[in-house]
Amino acid sequence: MNKKGILIIISGFSGAGKGSVVKELLSKGDYILSISSTTRAPREYEEHGREYFFDTRDDFESMIDNNELIEWASYCDNYYGTPRKFVENNLEQGKNVILEIEMQGALDVKAQYDDAVLIFITAPSVAELKARLEKRGTESSDIINKRLKRSYEEAEVINKYDYIVVNDDLQKCANDINSIINAEHKRAYRSGELKERLKDEFAELLKGEI
Ligand code: 5GP
Repeated sequence: MNKKGILIIISGFSGAGKGSVVKELLSKGDYILSISSTTRAPREYEEHGREYFFDTRDDFESMIDNNELIEWASYCDNYYGTPRKFVENNLEQGKNVILEIEMQGALDVKAQYDDAVLIFITAPSVAELKARLEKRGTESSDIINKRLKRSYEEAEVINKYDYIVVNDDLQKCANDINSIINAEHKRAYRSGELKERLKDEFAELLKGEI
């Protein structure tokens, strides 16, 4: 049927469990994850080229200057950005490409790719978000507070997303997103090839060729 890949943007409050949900989603279907560049320091378990490309501010700024990023944003004092080539090449090959990015970048991508699907993930409550961030233990309380303040600002803009999904149960959340993407593939406007083929077949039928 229609082989065109979908650009999937996943955002969510800090502590919503986006990373785990994306990992789960990758195991469920035909998805590929874009690895972002960032100037933040790696967490203990993170590796260059796996979770992120950990770059210097100078490197990052030269990527901006050379138009190598589809979007970039500053988040809690660090830069984060999406390398352009990887995304464009994989979409061209019909892959579903996932960007796990914050809200400013998400809206910037939507302005460039209006058929991108924007999904927002949240924990069931703010108390749960805070508890998850504290349990993760990768950020100081100062940075946790900065992230929660940023989440408060982001909450204002959630209705710009196409879907909001609660991550209470990891499996269920990943299944919900997988179902959304399967349904998106069936949107009539994405089915150009099928529509064209059926039209051609009707034309042949009316000419008595079928
Ligand atoms: P973290 O430091 O927790 O890994 O990420 C902080 C925030 O940056 C998260 O909301 C994450 O989704 C976002 N982020 C990660 N990569 C990118 C990117 O390439 N572009 C943008 N705009 N945000 C990103």
